[in-house]
Amino acid sequence: MDRIKWDDYFMAQAHLLSLRSTCQRLSVGATIIKDNRIIAGGYNGSVAGEVHCIDDGCLIENGHCIRTIHAEMNALLQCSKQGVRTENATIYVTHFPCLNCTKSIIQAGIKTIYYAQDYRNHPYAIELLQQSGVKFEKVPFDANHIAQMFLDEA
Ligand SMILES: [Zn+2]
Ligand SMILES: [Zn+2]
Repeated sequence: MDRIKWDDYFMAQAHLLSLRSTCQRLSVGATIIKDNRIIAGGYNGSVAGEVHCIDDGCLIENGHCIRTIHAEMNALLQCSKQGVRTENATIYVTHFPCLNCTKSIIQAGIKTIYYAQDYRNHPYAIELLQQSGVKFEKVPFDANHIAQMFLDEA
């Protein structure tokens, strides 16, 4: 019997969260990990209590949906709201983080970013990550492999 690797497990969690996204422009999920434990998770969505893009359409300004809080920010804010330290934590995200999320991830003291897909990787985001010594690595996610593990169990 194959045990799921931690990387696959946490990346699967990020992808499960992405299925909760309420903005259809991009379904993103993020999971924050400390000592192989999930401490927070987030997906692209509106401010709590606000209408969802999937119900009312996106609120577009300069080509961006301004209604949405990004998955990475939602995960960080969940830690902030609940008083959970993000220092030296690791984040798994479905897509390479945007510039703003990259800055917040660095500033929150997160030391490692694993992302499954490249997405408009911003050169300044990469520069900031290199300068701050935050490790970032692409960990492709193979949903079929995970599904096969369930089928093999059955
Ligand atoms: Zn939207
Ligand atoms: Zn972002």
